[in-house]
Amino acid sequence: MRALEAEAMRYFDSYRVPAGKIVSLADYDPESTGGVKDRSEGEALLRLEQERLVTLQKQLYAEGKQALLVCLQAMDAAGKDGTIRHVLSGLNPQSCRVRPFKQPNTEDLAHDFLWRVHRWTPGHGEIMVFNRSHYEDVLIVRVHQLVEEAVWQGRYSHINAFERLLADSQTKVIKIFLNISKDEQLKRFEKRLDDPLRQWKISEADYSERQHWDAYVEAYEEAISRCTTDAAPWFIVPANHKWFRNLAVARIIREALEELDIQMPEPTVDLKDIRKRYHQAVRQAKKNKG
Ligand code: ATP
Ligand code: MG
Repeated sequence: MRALEAEAMRYFDSYRVPAGKIVSLADYDPESTGGVKDRSEGEALLRLEQERLVTLQKQLYAEGKQALLVCLQAMDAAGKDGTIRHVLSGLNPQSCRVRPFKQPNTEDLAHDFLWRVHRWTPGHGEIMVFNRSHYEDVLIVRVHQLVEEAVWQGRYSHINAFERLLADSQTKVIKIFLNISKDEQLKRFEKRLDDPLRQWKISEADYSERQHWDAYVEAYEEAISRCTTDAAPWFIVPANHKWFRNLAVARIIREALEELDIQMPEPTVDLKDIRKRYHQAVRQAKKNKG
């Protein structure tokens, strides 16, 4: 397992899109399982990652000086919900939260496009996951021409400035694109048709958006290329295999937390004294019972 982990480590590192790279999604294989042998090995590795995440979350909260923001983006049915469920299960909801972003309401639209997301950025000690994010304002908004081109064109630099502000405020930002193929999307739509627990998820929009697949690919390529920075990198994760997608995302989040180099606060009391006090309290409790 150890050798495999080391290998996976190098591999996972390569999901980060370096600053300045011009991305073509055709170069990224959605089928890849990154050298992990099979589902059972992937699930065993995921459990290890989950354990580490639990520890790191506790440390982040105890330190209380830094935060992590994870923006999850994907085509429909790529599994944003499933990823959140599998990767974050086990974390304490007190300091790890999820915020979905759907169509903006009239109040949102009366403000700048970052207004509604800025209110949900994590406070120090917290992890926040955005299920969709401010990137929708250069994705669906661009594909459907919901604003003039000059407006969405101007947004990339606003996004970079916003994310730099967060980084300067001790909030690490990572953006993850779950990369599924067009064929895989159709297979998942089919599963939704047959599964009563998933039928509610089917929407007319899923099919109409699918017709704009190429326009979305182009919009994603530009958003990722223009907004992957050292301060707030994009990651492109192969997502045709759900078990691998979960493992990859867990590992990316774990590595991001490790990069924070969290320092646990020193105890505010003298532990020797407190230990004496504890033993006194135990003796007292015994006396009271007897
Ligand atoms: P699921 O279908 O898995 O439940 P979802 O995120 O697709 O989750 P939906 O309610 O199906 O949720 O869709 C939300 C829609 O809102 C998406 O089509 C998304 O593109 C759209 N949306 C999000 N942000 C914006 C925005 N800023 N402007 C316009 N549309 C947006
Ligand atoms: Mg949807």
